[in-house]
Amino acid sequence: MGLRFASLGSGSKGNGTLVASGDQCLLVDCGFTIKQTERRMLRLGMSPADLTAILVTHEHSDHLSGVAPLARKYGLPIYLTPGTLRARDIGKLPQVHLIEGHQPFVVADIQVTPVAVPHDAREAAQYVFRSRGSSLGLLTDLGTVTPHVESHFAGCDALVLEANHDPQMLAQGPYPPSLKRRVGGAYGHLSNQQAAGFLQRVGYEQLQHLVVAHISEKNNTLELARSALAEMLESVENCIFACQQDGFDWLTVEARGY
Ligand SMILES: [Zn+2]
Ligand SMILES: [Zn+2]
Repeated sequence: MGLRFASLGSGSKGNGTLVASGDQCLLVDCGFTIKQTERRMLRLGMSPADLTAILVTHEHSDHLSGVAPLARKYGLPIYLTPGTLRARDIGKLPQVHLIEGHQPFVVADIQVTPVAVPHDAREAAQYVFRSRGSSLGLLTDLGTVTPHVESHFAGCDALVLEANHDPQMLAQGPYPPSLKRRVGGAYGHLSNQQAAGFLQRVGYEQLQHLVVAHISEKNNTLELARSALAEMLESVENCIFACQQDGFDWLTVEARGY
């Protein structure tokens, strides 16, 4: 069996993604309290005690707020970039592994490639995971898709991809002007159309799963995301929309044999 993945929740109120291979499991980001994390993991048949490590993408609180408390309670090692570590004082951590120069590393039988993305954080990294002939790309929280991002995420067997907002809804929505500029800017979040353009450029025919994620509850609707991604929804084997409250249930990526 290849990689398996699931989500504790996805969106600006908290994120957490489980990536598992065999009996090892990583948690990528944790934007929930310990209690919430335990409850959400239990829903997926897991406890934080089952985790091998926590990986962090960047310091925004919807990704980081629960990381240090969880790591301390369960004695979990943390992988993050030096910029993310220095961006916030998160107190003592049981064990820190610094990701230097976005070099690939192996943890829990999974090869992890950190990929630098344009986002308004100190040193943001999104990740591509490979194990047992299957690959999964996790790509949220970026304002622009760069050629660097495209080259790393092309060819993944499964993808969790941000489609954060509809530009028109964002423009007419409740956010103050400065936040609208931030979210819609080059270091903010991907719109539905940017997500669709990325898939068109890198190809999506090989995807077993496409999970549309980090969808704004204020500046987007499922209907708008669906219509922007209509072509992909038709041809990808399994397309789902991650939600803030329930994330999504376990998905398995079948090995293609590298
Ligand atoms: Zn976020
Ligand atoms: Zn962010």
